[in-house]
Amino acid sequence: MGKVFVLREPRKGNREWNFYALREAARLKRWFDGVYYSPRLHRLLAVFRPTPGTHVNVLVFEEIGESILADAYRMECPKGCNRCCVIHSGAFILDVEVRMLPDEVKSVVLRQPRETIITPGGKVRVYRLDTEAMGRCIFFDVESGECKLEVYGKHLKPVVCLLTYCTVFASKDNRLFLKSGYKELRSGGVLIYYREVNEKQWKRMVDRMGLVWKKYRKVVRSQRVGTEALR
Ligand code: SF4
Ligand code: SF4
Repeated sequence: MGKVFVLREPRKGNREWNFYALREAARLKRWFDGVYYSPRLHRLLAVFRPTPGTHVNVLVFEEIGESILADAYRMECPKGCNRCCVIHSGAFILDVEVRMLPDEVKSVVLRQPRETIITPGGKVRVYRLDTEAMGRCIFFDVESGECKLEVYGKHLKPVVCLLTYCTVFASKDNRLFLKSGYKELRSGGVLIYYREVNEKQWKRMVDRMGLVWKKYRKVVRSQRVGTEALR
């Protein structure tokens, strides 16, 4: 079995380092497994399983034993919520990721506002994707509620989208869980409490969380009707 690596914790107040770490993570996103919450370590773990021989930057990754994940909750992002993509998405993509995109998508990204950050590992160019109304991501399809990048493969989504979870939805051993509490520890860790739910309760929560997207879609639809009426 291959080695398991997790991203080290971000450094508070060190934006340059964190972008460096993110770029290193982006290089390995093909091997991204998922984000887990470990009740033993009191932390979220972004797990990567690179094939043997892959270079892993140990400044930003640390190796863990498989057993750490035995009691961990896997973070889930059920279809139908879309909260992270639709309003104030804050979405962005890094230069190293843009290079992996098909040409037709790459040209769209290259027209976006950009920023260059000088990191300990050199310059990182960051392209903003949150430039649609109310911070919606340019790749979010409002009507279908889907990420337009998914058709090219999940690993082509921006690494920040792969790593960021609301932590509301989780699974473990084919069972479903919803977050029921949260507490920051003085030691720096975090306690997240989960309660097991059935599919109906899970779905109800997805519907509740998805209200933001549905309201947004309603507005977009009505604007479309208004524009068509003016033609
Ligand atoms: S709020 Fe949670 S479930 Fe909703 S899109 Fe974001 S990560 Fe996914
Ligand atoms: S790239 Fe996809 S997953 Fe990321 S914010 Fe945009 S639509 Fe959502």
